[in-house]
Amino acid sequence: MDKLTVRDVDVAGKRVFVRVDFNVPLEDGKVTDDSRIRAAIPTIHYLLSHGARVILASHLGRPDGKVQDGLRLRPVAERLSQILGRNVPVTGDALGIGSVDAVKRLRNGELLLLENLRFHAEEEKNDPAFAQQLADYAELYVNDAFGTAHRAHASTVGVAKLLPAYAGFLMERELAMLSRLMENPARPFAAIVGGAKVSGKLKVLDELLKKVDVLVLGGGMANTFLLAQGKTVGKSLAEHDMVEEARRVLALAEKKKVRVLLPVDVVVAKEVTRGTEYKTIPAEKIPASWHIVDVGRATLDLMEEALADAKTVFWNGPLGVFEIPSFAHGTRSIARYLAARADTGATVVVGGGDSVAAIQQQGLAERFTHISTGGGASLELLEGRELPGVTVLQDRPILTPAEKGAATKRANAAAKAKAEAEGRSPATAGKAAR
Ligand code: ADP
Ligand code: MG
Repeated sequence: MDKLTVRDVDVAGKRVFVRVDFNVPLEDGKVTDDSRIRAAIPTIHYLLSHGARVILASHLGRPDGKVQDGLRLRPVAERLSQILGRNVPVTGDALGIGSVDAVKRLRNGELLLLENLRFHAEEEKNDPAFAQQLADYAELYVNDAFGTAHRAHASTVGVAKLLPAYAGFLMERELAMLSRLMENPARPFAAIVGGAKVSGKLKVLDELLKKVDVLVLGGGMANTFLLAQGKTVGKSLAEHDMVEEARRVLALAEKKKVRVLLPVDVVVAKEVTRGTEYKTIPAEKIPASWHIVDVGRATLDLMEEALADAKTVFWNGPLGVFEIPSFAHGTRSIARYLAARADTGATVVVGGGDSVAAIQQQGLAERFTHISTGGGASLELLEGRELPGVTVLQDRPILTPAEKGAATKRANAAAKAKAEAEGRSPATAGKAAR
């Protein structure tokens, strides 16, 4: 899965179509969380400083093929302009004469942002003519939108097939971090899986059981496992048609000698709303009229004990209904605990929109080893699935040692020639190239 990146091609003077994931939350026409924009900056910065002409493209929300003024990319362009300290123009439409002209006028080291791709229904249909029109803007293609790489759309797959296609730095990092997790994790390796539903996460559980030493289950998904153990869960969210599957997963864990941790005490509430009555009780027998909404303190203690010596941790899915502050305690404590584990050198990787939101709410993001920008994409990758937007990027050729030597020699000679042409000493040229 080693892909060529922007570093592997000479971008100077080239028009480069860059698929980014600027699908950010907006409120009153302002970006409320710019993490996704920031995540794409290293690639954008690299391309601009190497003299590329950068055409950024993204989707925003679900306009379903129609222009929606509330989903225009202007607020994104404004935020990006602030971050880059220069004006980023945004076109009025991803297609059409306005965009064609704006692209033509780009000079080396300049950039623009195309309007929301999903204003055209052809984007999500991966329409060949639409992809061709986008490809006509550029000579090279770069994908830095890991969060949409699991979708085969025109801008993630169609265009990539029509141009030499490279990974951006964010894409490179996501692939490296997530595949290292599954290929060569430092042990003990623990996974924490929470969130709402078992059904969406069964495949990833199966895959994780092949790799982990400890599996911690929480959130709504744990309820189905409690049922599988013959316990009652009252009115809690649970998937009764998944109980057999949950039993199978537990049996598989036993066979693989994976330690599985399920809640031993839980917070139950009369309703899943703010201001309702709630209490902590053992997870043995949940009364018929109550909902499980969080894990209890005893469970958190057990989890922390099980995670204390883990060298690698993957976390997906909150441990409770963390959107309601009274039920956010489990999720927030595990986030703080994992941040502290990462501080001591453990590799802690988090994937999943809601888990990441819980971390960001507490300002802990910087302390984690890696926070994946793609929820669905990261899970599909961990399931061992190929992401269509990744498959289409060019593979790094596997070189024999002799070929590697020759390539290094060629690169050194080229750097030297370039330095001489520019009247610099080769030593400084080497440094500048790095
Ligand atoms: P992620 O986005 O991190 O992958 P999911 O989307 O799978 O996570 O799950 C997040 C949702 O799970 C949240 O909206 C949260 O309220 C819900 N959830 C967690 N625990 C429970 C529970 N016990 N009952 C109902 N919903 C829950
Ligand atoms: Mg989610």
